[in-house]
Formats: sequence, C-alpha cells, structure tokens
Amino acid sequence: MCGIFAYTGNKGKEAGKILLNGLLSLEYRGYDSAGVYMPESGSVKTTGAVAELRRKLPKDFKGTSGIAHLRWATHGEPSEKNAHPHADCGGEIWVVHNGIIENFKELKEKLSKAGHTFASDSDTEVLAHLVEEHLKNQSAGGGSSSGGKNFEKAALAALNEVRGTYGIALQYKREPDRIIAARMGSPIVLGLGDGEHFIASDPAPILPHTRKVMFLEDGEVAVITPGKHRIFRLDSTTVKRKATEIDWSAEEAQKGGYEHFMLKEIMEGPEVVRNTLRGRLIPAKGFAKLGGLESVTKQLQRIDRIIIVACGTASYAGQVGEYMLEGHARIPVEVEIGSEFRYRKAVVNERTAVIGISQSGETLDTLEALREGKRHGALTLGIVNTVGSTIARETDAGVYNHAGPEISVASTKAFLSQMTALALLTVFLGRQRGMTEKEGREIALALKELPEKIEKILEQRGAIEQLAKKYSKNRDFLYIARTYNFPVALEGALKLKEISYIHAEGCAAGEMKHGPIAMIDGNFPTVAIATKDSVYEKMISNIHEIKARKGPVIAIATEGDREIAKLADDVIHVPKTMEMLSPILNVVPLQLFAYYLAKEKGLNVDRPRNLAKSVTVE
Ligand code: GLU
Repeated sequence: MCGIFAYTGNKGKEAGKILLNGLLSLEYRGYDSAGVYMPESGSVKTTGAVAELRRKLPKDFKGTSGIAHLRWATHGEPSEKNAHPHADCGGEIWVVHNGIIENFKELKEKLSKAGHTFASDSDTEVLAHLVEEHLKNQSAGGGSSSGGKNFEKAALAALNEVRGTYGIALQYKREPDRIIAARMGSPIVLGLGDGEHFIASDPAPILPHTRKVMFLEDGEVAVITPGKHRIFRLDSTTVKRKATEIDWSAEEAQKGGYEHFMLKEIMEGPEVVRNTLRGRLIPAKGFAKLGGLESVTKQLQRIDRIIIVACGTASYAGQVGEYMLEGHARIPVEVEIGSEFRYRKAVVNERTAVIGISQSGETLDTLEALREGKRHGALTLGIVNTVGSTIARETDAGVYNHAGPEISVASTKAFLSQMTALALLTVFLGRQRGMTEKEGREIALALKELPEKIEKILEQRGAIEQLAKKYSKNRDFLYIARTYNFPVALEGALKLKEISYIHAEGCAAGEMKHGPIAMIDGNFPTVAIATKDSVYEKMISNIHEIKARKGPVIAIATEGDREIAKLADDVIHVPKTMEMLSPILNVVPLQLFAYYLAKEKGLNVDRPRNLAKSVTVE
C-alpha cells in the first residue's frame, strides 16, 4: 500500500542515489520503515526516514540496479526485521511488495515444511521463498538457473500461487540487471528511459528521469533490463501496450492527477472497502473471519456490553457501529467520545468490551479511554488503520482497516473502512449469538456489492460540484437523517465545518422540531438523507416541515425515487443497499459536496486551518 521503486541501467549511473531520491518523492504517502537492495552491495533497512537510510548506507554501497521500498505495515509491526526488501533462504531472491498476500499463512506452513526458514513476520517474505522453491525444483528437473528465463518462470509460477493484492518488484542476485514487476490491485508504473528502466508505485519518482511510462493492469507482469522491457499476463500471453507521455508535475503525480489528496482519497473509496473486506468474508456460510480477533474469540462470547470510544469522524463511525451491532448482533452498545469517557466514572467490568476506533492509532483521548477501560478489567479492542501504532499494541486484539495511508487531514476513506470493519464485526459477533446463517449471508453479499455502488456515486461528482457552486454563498447548513444515517448527518456537517469553515449542524431529523427548526428560512439549506429504508416516510414528513418554512432542501435519495424530486430543491441519487450498510454509500456524496464547496472557496482543502492529522494532545 505504500511505495516501491526499482531501477536498472547501463549508463554508469549510481543506482543507489537514484533509488533513494526516488523513495524521497514517495515519502508523501506516509510510511513506517524503508529499505533498499542492490545485487552488487546487499541490503540496508531502517525504521527511520529516507534520510536515515541514506546515512546508513556504507560508502561502498554501489551498483547499477536495485529495488527500494517504503513500507506501511499490514502484517508484522514496523521494525527493521519486517522492513522490505525481503529475501529467500539463500539471500539471492529479493522482493519489495505493496499490498497483502492473503494466503501467506498456508504458503508459509508449506514452505517451512519444505525446509525454508523465515526471518520476518511479514506476509511478503513468502514470495521470495516461493520463487526460491520453484527455482530449486526447476534445477532438480534439469533446468539451469541462469539465462533469465528460469527466474522469470519461477517468478510467474510463484505469482500464480499467491492470492491477495500486490504491486511487486523482484530481483535475483545472479541476474543483477533484470527486474520483474507485477500488479494485482496495487499500482505499478514502468518508466522507459534510454538505456535505463524504472518501476514504481506512481510516476512521481520516475518523472525526473523520463516522461515516458506504461501503467500495468491487474494480472500483468513486466520484465525490465537496461535496454528492454516486456509485458505479459500471468498466463504468459503477451501484452502490447503503448507508452504514455506524462505531462503532470511531480506533485500532481503524487496526487494521482487529482487536484487534492482529499479528492484522491474519496475516489479510492471502492478500493478501500474492497481492501477492508478482502479475505474476511465467507459469504456462502454467512460468516466473517477476523484473524485479529481469533485470540479473544472465547472472551467475546462472554461479553454482554460494548462501549465504543473514539473522537471526531471515528466516533461517528462508532455510532453507525452502534446501530449495526445492536440491530443485527443484539449486543447493547454505547458510544462515547474519548475525552469524555476518560474523565467520568463509567461502569465497566470484565463482561464489557471497550472498542477504540482511530485511523492513526495514536489519538490520545481514545488511547486514554481504552486504558481507563483496561484498568476496570474490560476486554479492549482496536479498529485501527496504522499497524503497530500505540492503540494496536496496547489493546488485547483488534481489526485493521487496511485502508492505506490517509494524507488529507479531513478523513474520508478511513471513515468508509471503519464502518466496513464494524459491519464485519457485526457479522462476526452476530454469528456467535443469534444471527442466522441467512442473515449473515445477506449482509456478506450486500457488503461485497458496495464497491461498485460507491463507484456509481463517484461518477456523479460533476453534478455534485455544480451543486456545491450553487450553494457556495450560504453561511449555514443543517444536515438531518434518522437511525443508521443520523451519524452520517453529523459526519456530513463535520466535513463541511472542517474544510470549508461553514457553519453546519447535524441533527436527528426527529429532534429538529425541538429546537433547530427555528433557524430555518430561505437562506438556511438542509441536507436531508432520505434513502428508501424503514424511516423513509418519517424523513419525507421532516422535509415537508422544512419546505413549509421555505428552507432549501438537498436530498440524498435512492436511485429511482422520482417522488422526492417534487419536494426537494436538489436531489443526489445513490444505489440501494441494505439499510445497515446505507451509511457507507450515503456519506460519499456528502464528502464530495464538502470537498467541492471548500475548493470553490479557494481553501487549502488538504490542510485546513487549526487542524492536525493525528491528534496526540488532550
Ligand atoms: N503487507 C506488506 C507488509 O506488511 C506490505 C505493506 C506495504 O504495502 O507497505 O510488509
């Protein structure tokens, strides 16, 4: 999920310098450790920044090719041992990888039985050993290990055995000028120079050398040497691809061609939900498999109450989780913001599970709330995006989001992944209790369909941009919804406040008549989430109440709902899903609306004033 960069050239250039400068331009992605391998010199790794890696390189660390990596840990905590590149037993096959090898446990067991020894806890290392194993079997079968073809064959055989996501680069000590790259889910770009070739996660590190690139598609493999490149598929069929001339600046390249990281991250929504779900659903049986909770499965059966602690956007994900867990797993749930929970005398005991939700895993108020829970004997769990973070380390068990690094201060993709993780938890705990297989299956199938549905919403971003322009002069907004989407109304309002500095309030639609409706007039628009669900009719009544006071209404409605257009001033349509999962779709147009409004106002969307990404103070 983070950054890879590889180089091979015959122009007498110093590969080490090129690799490290390349890593520097990938640093923006956020990472926890770094490393480099060059066949002529060996490998160096660090848990520090690229500058630290540079300091650690011995003077004679030289060569004409190599692979480099910035890791954002998913399996195994951030440490030198787990940093890439990883090697086989013989120290000859080296690999850098972004993504997750889902079947690494099975493969590791199989390879261990065949005599391989592993040096790290990461999922990636199995790839190096798997290639080694295939090479060994080839030579046992009479092949020779030189000539490049055998390395290629072994790499291809290994790639055909792994499941999961990868952008990888592989290098073989005996073939120093040849690098093999492959893509499945995580991006890979080839840079085509004159007498030199590059492989990277995005074009940024390639651009100082050449503007000619080729993007790999899923299931494709590329082989580069200084003078040549070839692309083929996992089934060995040849791919013919035209080179693309990139006219982006290096900064634009980092943002994937989008104007801001926030928009890039909103656009990553479908991929993020896929990554959070990957390998965790058994739809046929209606089960969720959460490896991070295996160690506490028994304790979880005994708990009779859940307290979710979180701050800001994560606390709204927690509130959606409250509706999910109570509605479908039938466990009593409370949600509390970290800064309150830690200072009040909450009643907590051994039969309570306290779940902390935090993107960074470092949010101090959430961390302290978890510690408070632990002091009272509760089982503590984390829903965290950053592997090895303090919350991940201090909790008894947990679920990682696998959303990848989030750069924009205003959280978008992490929110989607937090709600998705909570839906998985609902199935996991529900099936331990009364949830039927049929219900589990229904949720699992609906979850799997979400990414495509999010894509359909993202396709409407042009229309949402127009809407943002139309409402850009308004100073106040009200967001209303009921049940599952009430927290989404709160999140929609928060997004608007955070990045556009416009006053916005989220309110349970039923609560409006107890106060907030007093504010409504022709200049006070309301965003109403009124998708077709169990409270649809009630929402329609609330919209009528606003219209009766001349308040403009923007409705989020279900595809095909024509009636609502007669009532609301503007409508954004979203695909239908289960009510429990509707927040994961309904928040997307609100994220886009806030983004375009802030952009229209010319504000610094990715770095809003007064806010920080990871809040490690009280
Ligand atoms: N899953 C791999 C690891 O944890 C790769 C992580 C990444 O994409 O940086 O080492």
